[in-house]
Amino acid sequence: MDYKDLANMIFPDVKDISYYEEKYPRRELPEGAIVTRFAPSPTGFVHIGGLYQSVIAKKMANQTGGVFFLRIEDTDQKREVENGVTDIVTSLKEFGMAPDEGMIDDKNYIGNYGPYKQSLRKEIYQAYAKYLIEKGCAYPCFCKSEELEEMRNKQEAAKERTGYYGVWSKCRHIPVNEQIEKIKNGEEYILRFKSPGNPEKKIKHHDVIKGNVDFPENDQDIVIIKSDGLPTYHFAHAVDDHLMGTTHVIRGDEWLSSVPLHLQLFQVLGFKAPKYAHIAPIMKEDNGAKRKLSKRKDPEAAVSYYAEAGIPEAAVDEYLLNIANSNFEQWRRQNPDAKMEEFELQLNKMSVSGALFDMVKLLDISKRVISKYTAVEVYEKALAWARNHSEELKNLLENDKEYALKVLGIERGNVKPRRDIAKWSDVKDNIIYMYDEEFFKNEQQYEFQKINDKEEIRNIINSYIEKYYNPEDDKETWFSKIKDLSEEFGYARETKEYKQNPENYKGHVGDVSTVIRICLTARSNTPDMYEIMNVLGSESIIKRLQNAVKK
Ligand code: GLU
Repeated sequence: MDYKDLANMIFPDVKDISYYEEKYPRRELPEGAIVTRFAPSPTGFVHIGGLYQSVIAKKMANQTGGVFFLRIEDTDQKREVENGVTDIVTSLKEFGMAPDEGMIDDKNYIGNYGPYKQSLRKEIYQAYAKYLIEKGCAYPCFCKSEELEEMRNKQEAAKERTGYYGVWSKCRHIPVNEQIEKIKNGEEYILRFKSPGNPEKKIKHHDVIKGNVDFPENDQDIVIIKSDGLPTYHFAHAVDDHLMGTTHVIRGDEWLSSVPLHLQLFQVLGFKAPKYAHIAPIMKEDNGAKRKLSKRKDPEAAVSYYAEAGIPEAAVDEYLLNIANSNFEQWRRQNPDAKMEEFELQLNKMSVSGALFDMVKLLDISKRVISKYTAVEVYEKALAWARNHSEELKNLLENDKEYALKVLGIERGNVKPRRDIAKWSDVKDNIIYMYDEEFFKNEQQYEFQKINDKEEIRNIINSYIEKYYNPEDDKETWFSKIKDLSEEFGYARETKEYKQNPENYKGHVGDVSTVIRICLTARSNTPDMYEIMNVLGSESIIKRLQNAVKK
């Protein structure tokens, strides 16, 4: 009796690995192309860290002419939740991170290297496990969970490393004929890797992000196939990333310490190892200390949070690139209109320790992203958000689409577009004063600034209506009339003149236009007043100014 008999007995029906090696040929890609993947477990929660990984992985693949694929790692069936896969697929798509290959819903996939869901690849893993048994590199382990627990207690008491290795790897030393005998007798078992490692020796690893790291060799005989016939993460990782042709494993740095084991698996299986790029997690400041963004404590850890809050997906993507490479910000300054796809991401420029999540920064990016949208885009996106989150905004936008587009078009599409909207939930407050009904509904509170005297305000406004205001005026004429108005009341036509000789004036043109602005909008800070007046129209303007005078 030898290893071959043992292998045949355990897996009588699986195919030879040569079948899979042929079925999944090496990819023909341009030199330097990166093949990478996002490999989440479908737990029903899509973490921003997963999106971060996808943004990086997809970008690296795209910019090198490679492939980005989505593989679902569902070998831990206890953690499985309904719609877990669909949630992931939908989120990726929403954020513009749809993979080139992989699962497209719970059952279906695109690409030649599938299935891309581990529970559908059982016989593939078994073929490779059989191969390892034949080579004497894997063996059945009959230890019961109580035995393993007892072993662990002993190890802890003796302050030894825990795990199944060296003298502790009891089943490793059972002769083959005895193993066969036990299986024949119906004893339960799982399969373990027979590690060739010696922890006295070190391996040198070059991580694309973390740089050079040394580790002791792995000597743990880890489980490769569990009692349900499915592989463990480690074994599936080696088999899948080999067959799927992954060149770069881009993943969270909680896996960095598994590298010695993974490299060993690749070596014993006869596979070429991929490059590894271990990403530091996104952190959060909490009472002066740094911790990982937490699913339980931080709502912004869930990718679903952003759509709820009305932050555009494109802004989140751009923010994540910003965290990924610190030179992104400078690039953006130099290329304000470029698509983020044009930025060249470099893995080796990623920070080794975790970046802090900064909502202020994200919202600032979001303002910039939204400022680049056309009025129609803002309209549609804001309306889509409002349909689920704000009846009021929905009505405002839907009741008169044409007017809404004019309002949203104020200071848009020019060189310095308005940047006052960070999220769709800001829109209502940003535009509401442009609607007469809403404007007159609430008793407007006018907080005048420099010019405060009621009589003076009344006179300025009356004079403006009677002598200066003409809806036909172009911007230049309109402004020169406000200057004339200022002069009439003893205010400087130019701020500069005022600053040179303040004693000659009551104030300057800015103070006068503020009076008009406040009477028209009840706000001291608005986009361009000329544009606002054009959209409001003369009827509304006169009504608003007269209303202010009355009060
Ligand atoms: N399924 C693993 C996880 O959820 C993936 C790690 C990897 O990318 O290899 O963390």
